[in-house]
Amino acid sequence: MDNGVSPLKARAAQAAVAQGLLGEERLIAGFVDVAGVRHAVGELRRAFPDHFMHAFAAKAGCLEGILRLVRSEGMACEVASPGELGQALNAGFPASRIVFDSPAKTWGEIRMALRQGMTLNVDGFQELERVDTVRREQGGSASVIGIRVNPQVGAGTIAAMSTGTLTSKFGIALDDPGSRERVLAAYRERPWLSCVHVHVGSQGCPLELIAAGIAKAVALAQEINAQAGRRQVTVIDIGGGLPVNFDDDTVSPSFGEYATVLREIAPALFSGEFGVITEFGRSLLAKNGFIVARVEYTKVTGGHHIAITHAGAQVATRTVFMPGSWPIRVSALDRTGRPKSGPGMVQDVAGPCCFAGDIVASRRELPLLEPGDWVLLHDTGAYYFS
Ligand SMILES: *Cc1c(COP(=O)(O)O)cnc(C)c1O
Repeated sequence: MDNGVSPLKARAAQAAVAQGLLGEERLIAGFVDVAGVRHAVGELRRAFPDHFMHAFAAKAGCLEGILRLVRSEGMACEVASPGELGQALNAGFPASRIVFDSPAKTWGEIRMALRQGMTLNVDGFQELERVDTVRREQGGSASVIGIRVNPQVGAGTIAAMSTGTLTSKFGIALDDPGSRERVLAAYRERPWLSCVHVHVGSQGCPLELIAAGIAKAVALAQEINAQAGRRQVTVIDIGGGLPVNFDDDTVSPSFGEYATVLREIAPALFSGEFGVITEFGRSLLAKNGFIVARVEYTKVTGGHHIAITHAGAQVATRTVFMPGSWPIRVSALDRTGRPKSGPGMVQDVAGPCCFAGDIVASRRELPLLEPGDWVLLHDTGAYYFS
């Protein structure tokens, strides 16, 4: 049996061992399937019309090489921290192709973003007042400026990843008493506010939940334009959050399936009435990357097999701390990087960190791991080794 390892992954792992990229002192490596990423970006672009601008969510894979790769495939870039912004600039994104979304933008960051003409989504009323001040200082700005709204549609299956809940820290709530009126007034008083931003969550949110949040943002944009008697809002930023299947190699849901749901629930996105920005991260990278780590030792404790590897909380933080929410597939490779065969034995795959919970796969049935073998952590191309 292939132990769940595709021929492509097996070839890559064997080549890395043969070339010494993995070895006795080269303990762990992250792999990115460049052709796979190109294909995913192509699928994304084919699923939506040309008036969509697809910005890659840098936090999902903030290595310069990955950012250069998605830029060369025609993507823009969404950033939410100064570190991500620096990486995006290093990777060659022009300011006009950067969307700046941090919920904690400093005065300096707002000044820089507006001076350079980045798209900026404001996360709250206090930030909006800072933007007013900076625009006055700078005598206006070429930036597209929007407000991130929280449509309060509820949570997906992972609370920590759900940003559209009643009490989420993100955006301006639409359904709190008086809030919608305040948002409408903010747009009325600021004719330069031309974007509405929404991002409902990241992994664990069903498509219908995400689409329901987006539909509320679209309805708001239409209401703003009706109140203004002109097309004040010209851009809707619908965020990312397309969930990824971690159970096998199937890409599900696809960008095409998501587009079908959006056409149904928010048809105005497809009419050309608005320019649309997307901010996908995980769905472009997760299945196009994996980690291979060395098995240093094995032991039997309490009658239970444990493999001590070099992949633990330092690369698989979410999986280690929230194993119920972030389970990943793990496969066994022999010392040459070939998928290991043999009868399945229940074992723990542990990491190198000094706390007992540092386990990436618990009570998993795998061919018995031995020192010098390798473990392959599937679907870890996004948010793991970045
Ligand atoms: C994290 C994040 C994204 C990307 O989410 P994915 O689940 O990786 O697609 C997009 N937009 C914002 C504002 C985010 O915080």
